[in-house]
Amino acid sequence: MSNPQQYDLLIIGAGVSGSALLYSAARYTGIKRIGIIEKYAAPARVNSLSSNNSQTLHCGDIETNYSLEKALKVQRAARMLANFCLRQPDRDHLIYQYPKMVLGVGERECELLRARYRELQAHYPQLRLLEKKDIARIEPAVVAARRGGLREEPIVALGSTDEYTAVNFEALSRAFVRGACQEADKTVDVRYNENVLHIDVEAERFLVSSATTCYQTRALVVCAGGHSLKLAHDLGYGRHYSCLPVAGSYYFTPQVLNGKVYTVQNDKLPFAAIHGDPDVLVPGKTRFGPTALILPILERYNYRTLPDFLRVLRFDRQVAKALWELLRVRDIRRYMLKNILFEVPLIRKLLFLRDARKIVPTLRYRDLSFANKVGGIRPQLIDKTQGRLLLGEAKIDTGRGAIFNMTPSPGGTSCLENALIDMRAVAAFLGAEVDEQGLAAELLGSGDESQETAFSGRLLDDAQRPAGRWRRWFRRLRG
Ligand SMILES: Cc1cc2nc3c(=O)[nH]c(=O)nc-3n(C[C@H](O)[C@H](O)[C@H](O)COP(=O)(O)OP(=O)(O)OC[C@H]3O[C@@H](n4cnc5c(N)ncnc54)[C@H](O)[C@@H]3O)c2cc1C
Repeated sequence: MSNPQQYDLLIIGAGVSGSALLYSAARYTGIKRIGIIEKYAAPARVNSLSSNNSQTLHCGDIETNYSLEKALKVQRAARMLANFCLRQPDRDHLIYQYPKMVLGVGERECELLRARYRELQAHYPQLRLLEKKDIARIEPAVVAARRGGLREEPIVALGSTDEYTAVNFEALSRAFVRGACQEADKTVDVRYNENVLHIDVEAERFLVSSATTCYQTRALVVCAGGHSLKLAHDLGYGRHYSCLPVAGSYYFTPQVLNGKVYTVQNDKLPFAAIHGDPDVLVPGKTRFGPTALILPILERYNYRTLPDFLRVLRFDRQVAKALWELLRVRDIRRYMLKNILFEVPLIRKLLFLRDARKIVPTLRYRDLSFANKVGGIRPQLIDKTQGRLLLGEAKIDTGRGAIFNMTPSPGGTSCLENALIDMRAVAAFLGAEVDEQGLAAELLGSGDESQETAFSGRLLDDAQRPAGRWRRWFRRLRG
């Protein structure tokens, strides 16, 4: 490269979103000079860090707060991610199979799940309606009552036992960066320990400044979590958005579950109810959470991000109105108070125990330990013009070669899907071609057969498949 600080595409932030875009642009477009700038010394040190999220590959079948449309969208995103992971030599460290289910407790929730099953079954061939005895075979601790025997209230679940359900998004980010650097005909420049302080526009180029260097680029995509909004505001975009950082904490217990157990979502609440999951890097434990606590920082446990929070909050009457609209709902008020109490030493375990017992009734106080330094922050946006909290990912595409992404859950699962949207927009802006055929063959699978194959894990040998025994149980159940 004649001048090492000049790029066609520059990405800010090497979490799973930025690194997925780096890979997609390097592999599937004709864009020649691509750079990525990350403020820490390695990819995925913030929300994509393996300990900072729930590691769930969201497919839409057990997330009762998703509409059918949203469920099918994340199903497609998850399928692409699984297809990418299964092509990697270290796939066993990227993607994992565990049983998964969403549990309904009480008549109302059971009825809701039965109706949801009828709606979803055509789209999710692996999904099963699980009665109490079926749940008992997969997750014995879920059906056990505290006083012995089976729990008495009606329970039902929707789940599957044989699919990819967990991803190490941190390892995945490294795989994306590695894959991008292996593209021989491209210049892929990865800059760590560079904190972008400011962006300017000059003569149709973006000038991206860190403390030591000024980079020039024709196109720019910012994947910097809550910081994306701050950089967008600097350039005069997205001023109608404010950012509300919502932290999630977790508790560890001894291993009481074999897989992921979600619960039915209260549809008045903007965040997922707590669930129990294996931690892919902490064998022998179950992780319960996340909680949802509003904190005035953009990165968990990093109080130096407080000034940036104040800049993206842009507190005014419209933000106050949006918050007031939230707090007017009784369920949300109670939920917020409870989540504050979840952080208060001494009482937090007692309160959390009550919620966790909906999943595993036999949990004891002494089983729970607060997971220190575990859990990230979801950068939720407030749309000030509409006076409401936005759920899911948000994107500001300026149409002038700059895109800004803010990615709360399920942003890990959707990283490739989002990356492809940005990749196509940037390629069109730069006049570069996109290898749609190569992309379809590698990420989408060449037909229905292979799509299901990658998703449901049939690419792995039986010996490699930890969930083989669940499949056998299901065969017996069906038989
Ligand atoms: C509690 C919790 C649970 C979650 N659970 C799930 C789940 O189970 N499944 C799922 O799919 N998603 C989940 N998510 C969401 C998922 O973790 C995020 O959507 C995803 O990690 C976002 O990736 P990202 O690359 O956009 O952001 P990040 O991973 O936060 O990366 C942003 C990067 O930008 C860098 N950066 C920031 N500012 C600058 C700057 N000025 N200069 C240079 N670099 C900068 C940061 O250092 C960081 O590396 C969860 C999130 C939370 C908080």
